[in-house]
Amino acid sequence: MGIDSSQSRVGKQSVEMYLVGGAVRDKLLGLPVKDRDWVVVGATVEDMLEMGFQPVPGVFPVFIHPQTGEEYALARRETKTGPGYHGFSVETGPDVTLEQDLARRDLTINAMAEDERGTIIDPFGGRKDLQRRLLRHVTPAFAEDPVRLLRIARFSARFSSLGFHVAHETHGVMKEMAAAGELAHLQGQRIWQEMARALMEAQPWRFFQVLHACGALGRLFPVLASALPDSPGDENPEEDGEPIAVLKRAVTGKASLALRFVCIMQYAVDAGHPASQLTAWLAVEKKTATLFENWLLARPLLLDLPKGNARAYRQYLQRFRHCLPQLGQLAQICMPHLAEQLSPLLEQARAAMLSVDVAELQEQGLQGRFLGEELRRRQEQAIASVLRGSGEN
Ligand code: ATP
Ligand code: MG
Repeated sequence: MGIDSSQSRVGKQSVEMYLVGGAVRDKLLGLPVKDRDWVVVGATVEDMLEMGFQPVPGVFPVFIHPQTGEEYALARRETKTGPGYHGFSVETGPDVTLEQDLARRDLTINAMAEDERGTIIDPFGGRKDLQRRLLRHVTPAFAEDPVRLLRIARFSARFSSLGFHVAHETHGVMKEMAAAGELAHLQGQRIWQEMARALMEAQPWRFFQVLHACGALGRLFPVLASALPDSPGDENPEEDGEPIAVLKRAVTGKASLALRFVCIMQYAVDAGHPASQLTAWLAVEKKTATLFENWLLARPLLLDLPKGNARAYRQYLQRFRHCLPQLGQLAQICMPHLAEQLSPLLEQARAAMLSVDVAELQEQGLQGRFLGEELRRRQEQAIASVLRGSGEN
């Protein structure tokens, strides 16, 4: 069944459908629109089913358009049911207006709608804030959902390069939210979801700076927060602090998500906040968690290698043989001066190590422990000659 996605008549009511949220914002910014979300006013669940929409299981009242696959949500309204941040309930129904739906959205630039004629409906001044490059909350209900702290930090990572910044009064609300312990309600997985998206934006370091400025970072990642300066060095990158400087180099080097995660999160762990606990809480992918653990083990060994002998090189190359290219990339980003000197040497040492022929040793009758010992001895000999040639040791 075809659905006219602008206006439909179901029964006696007139149903209206509006494009909302990020699609309207990005269109007005002249950016490509990736996914389109719609809001439906004047319809009941039965109306939606009658029109052929498919309900999204567990995400009431959201439906999928059978042809376009785009999301259509029934207009929702928030009503205050009691004091405090959590005294709200969300209701839906054919009497909920577009304006009520837009009022429960996070930022004014995300709280605009477009009707079928292309008219923008903008009750909260989103267009003006787009022009003024402001990330501003829509209503005090912003404070109700701590995910919004992560979202505004993520939008900062995405839009700072266009000149956007957090509005003064919104910063105030964010500070209150962080101080009230709102972040304790967040699941690690949800944090990682937003962080992962932020890490691949144009200026991912803004995500951490914005969370730090309102006190949220200290609640989420206290060790990282203590490694950042209180106010970011916008004018002077030397005042960024090491974690931000490293993340900036990761972006310049077009590092993958896993590498970016390691680059910043290496500063979020210490003896009391172990890496395994952090990655389990965030539920990061196993491969990323393993790379993180390997980097934390490899980092002190790499720092010591310039003083090390052929055995230290062999042990390093052997132990991390499964992830040497990624560790090499991390070294380039995190310790560029050392890496400049070490990388070619490690590459030559690896080639020298691989040039030792195991089959030849086996032909000589060596096996088991003796084969292993002789192999290591010859590998270290080969590495030692590389090191001598380079003037190391
Ligand atoms: P993106 O380009 O990243 O998809 P978006 O603004 O479209 O950005 P979505 O997560 O797709 O973000 O959400 C669509 C819209 O729903 C948002 O523009 C916003 O209006 C609203 N929204 C989403 N999450 C929240 C939230 N936690 N609180 C309030 N409004 C939200
Ligand atoms: Mg979207």
